[in-house]
Amino acid sequence: MISVTFFLWNWKMEQNVPSTKILKNYIDGQFVKSEMLFDDISPVDGSLVAHVCEADKNLVDQAVQSAKKALDGEWGEFSVDERCQILHKVADEIERRFDDFVAAEIADTGKAYAQVKNIDIPRGAANFRFFADLAQNQDDKTFEMTTADGRGATNQIIYKPMGVVAVISPWNLPLLLMTWKVAPALASGNTVIVKPSEETPSTATLLAEVMDTVGMPNGVFNLLHGFGPNSAGGYMVEHPDVNAITFTGESSTGKAIMKNAADNLKPVSFELGGKNAAIVFADADFDKAVAGTVRSVFSNCGQVCLCSERVYVERSIFDKFVTALKEKAETIKIGNPEEGADMGPLISKEHREKVLSYFSLALNEGATLITGGKPPVFGNECDNGSFIEPTIWTGLSENARCVKEEIFGPVCHISPFDNVEEVIGKANDSDYGLAAAIWTTDMDKANRVARRMEVGICWVNDWFLRDLRTPFGGVKLSGIGREGGIHSLEFYSEPLTICVKH
Ligand code: NAD
Repeated sequence: MISVTFFLWNWKMEQNVPSTKILKNYIDGQFVKSEMLFDDISPVDGSLVAHVCEADKNLVDQAVQSAKKALDGEWGEFSVDERCQILHKVADEIERRFDDFVAAEIADTGKAYAQVKNIDIPRGAANFRFFADLAQNQDDKTFEMTTADGRGATNQIIYKPMGVVAVISPWNLPLLLMTWKVAPALASGNTVIVKPSEETPSTATLLAEVMDTVGMPNGVFNLLHGFGPNSAGGYMVEHPDVNAITFTGESSTGKAIMKNAADNLKPVSFELGGKNAAIVFADADFDKAVAGTVRSVFSNCGQVCLCSERVYVERSIFDKFVTALKEKAETIKIGNPEEGADMGPLISKEHREKVLSYFSLALNEGATLITGGKPPVFGNECDNGSFIEPTIWTGLSENARCVKEEIFGPVCHISPFDNVEEVIGKANDSDYGLAAAIWTTDMDKANRVARRMEVGICWVNDWFLRDLRTPFGGVKLSGIGREGGIHSLEFYSEPLTICVKH
């Protein structure tokens, strides 16, 4: 394995900053400093990754005005083909700087090297190619109609950009989730103001460098660093010249953003939290179900919105399944991604405090601790990081807060069920509705159960597998709208019907 330290060192050397890097905003084609700096801290060992320039209200306004101006400039004149060509160049340039992106993502998140190398960065680049090609292959839609005078009329539907789109993204899959929104927004002809999470500013800054290198016209892509309320995020969603908001993050943040967007009736697309169920029937391929559930519970240290935090197992295999999941969880190698760990830390000490508070609560609520439940002790610099053990509970009631609330850590509760109706009821008894996973060899049963899941995506005998053409999103507190494939292009476009009488 290539050393992550080398990547990080190389990345810093390329920036000509041997010690602490300063991450700037990118506005109207310029990298812009600000007076207010905040720290980007490594969750691996608590060390300083970079100082980050926070955007104030004035910088947010400059970014919005620049994005607005760009719509009327060169970018507004680009054909779909020209837009798509430059988006392909963005993908190529991300790949050319692949090692820099890998190092930057690991520096901010501490996540496992294999995940960043195989998922985060390649999929970040792929989003640009995918949405460019999709936008290029859209047919014009025209309808001929008859009229009373017999001459008829032609109705043509054209798709115009929404305008200035605010993109606000979370820290768990920083580049992947940001580009999932930026790529279709740009492919549809919009301009964007983008705010990454304050926890993960590095790959977004590299993306701004990529935009600069490929010659993206000024103002088309603007990057603003900062926090939520009374900072860049809050100012972005309140700005009257922002035409649409696309947000991925916590459901409570979605509610706050929606209130702020209400005054101007801005369209919103929200991808929010989850409390996802996995259902394991007794007829499942046992080993596959165990391996799949280990992935769906512990991937990215449980910090994927799609992770299973509630696992329901048919009673006849319950004890065997709990034992097998415990054994697998205990083989997960936690630690520094540089040393080949399977699982990195939680994103921050603050987030670890939140997860640990659920660990205490679970015991107070009557849980039986099967494994984990505390931070590991390394005896090295990782003790200054925010690591936590993979954790499994049984024995909680369905009304326990730990079964109801999203924890967003490497933890699940396993409970037994006796029949299909019971488990469908339990899986759907949630304020959230993002994803579910069903494990069975009976495909008729799989189809019957999957259709009744109150979620946006339901896997059968797998997890996290996605065709980018399919709609992605959640129901209930898990989101508003769908992104993915044509559904993204529809959100980022405003259809205009031109009816011509013959
Ligand atoms: P978060 O809501 O705390 O922050 C997300 C982003 O919103 C950050 O950039 C933050 O600075 C910004 N923000 C916070 N308050 C704001 C405000 N009032 N106005 C404007 N911007 C504001 O979420 P997080 O902790 O970064 O991410 C974890 C959450 O994201 C989990 O709940 C997870 O389930 C969810 N998530 C959902 C999906 C999905 O596709 N449904 C994907 C990934 C993560």
